[in-house]
Amino acid sequence: MKPLVLATGNAGKLIEMRDILQPHGWEVKAQAEFFAGEADETGLTFIENAILKARYAAQHSGLPAIADDSGLEVSGLNGAPGIYSARYSADEADKEGGLVNDQTNLDKLLREMHDVPAGQRHASYYCAMVYVEHAKDPTPIIGLGRWYGEILTQPQGTGGFGYDPVFWVDELQQTAAELPKAQKNQLSHRAQALNALVMQLRRGA
Ligand code: IMP
Repeated sequence: MKPLVLATGNAGKLIEMRDILQPHGWEVKAQAEFFAGEADETGLTFIENAILKARYAAQHSGLPAIADDSGLEVSGLNGAPGIYSARYSADEADKEGGLVNDQTNLDKLLREMHDVPAGQRHASYYCAMVYVEHAKDPTPIIGLGRWYGEILTQPQGTGGFGYDPVFWVDELQQTAAELPKAQKNQLSHRAQALNALVMQLRRGA
C-alpha cells in the first residue's frame, strides 16, 4: 500500500475518499496524524487553492498529498459565491458581530437572488481535486468536477450541507438536500473530480 495524506479536517471526506482510493492500493492518512493548521488560500481559482492545500499537506507530512477545493458558482451573480462559498456572508457578520455558517450563507444567497427570475437561476457546484507527489511537485495531477443545478427561492430538504437545500437537480426533481447521501456521493462535483483524479493516478501507476 502506498501512503498519502488527505488535506482535510473533514471526517466524512476522509471516509469517502479512503473507500474510493484504498482498492487502488493507496493508504489514505488523515492530516491530523501529522499537523494542525492549514494553508492560506490565496489563489483566485479552485485549482490554485487546491494546489496550495496539497503542497502544504505534502510539506508538513513528507508524503504525497491530495487536497480539494470546492464551492458554488451562480451564473446570475457573475460566478459568486465561487471560491468564497464557505465565507459568503462574512461581510455582514463582521459588521454585525455575528457568525458565518451554512445558514447565514444560504440566507445571503437567497437575498442576492431575490430579483433573479426563474429560468435565469442556473448554478453549478465545482470541485478541483489535486494530487502532488511532494511539496515542490512541478506537475500536480488535477481532477475536476461540475454538478449542474438551479437555485430555488426557498430551501427544501434537510440532508447534505451548505447550499444543498436550495440546489435543485432537475433530472432527479429533488434538491441536493433531499437526495440520499449515497446518491449525492455518486453524482456530486466532488465524486466527479475524485474519479477523474483516480483515473489519472491509475494510468501513472
Ligand atoms: P469545501 O470544499 O469543504 O471547502 O467547501 C467550500 C464551501 O463550498 C462549503 O462551505 C459550502 O458552502 C460549499 N460547498 C462545497 N461543496 C458543497 C456541497 O456538496 N454542498 C453544499 N455546499 C457545498
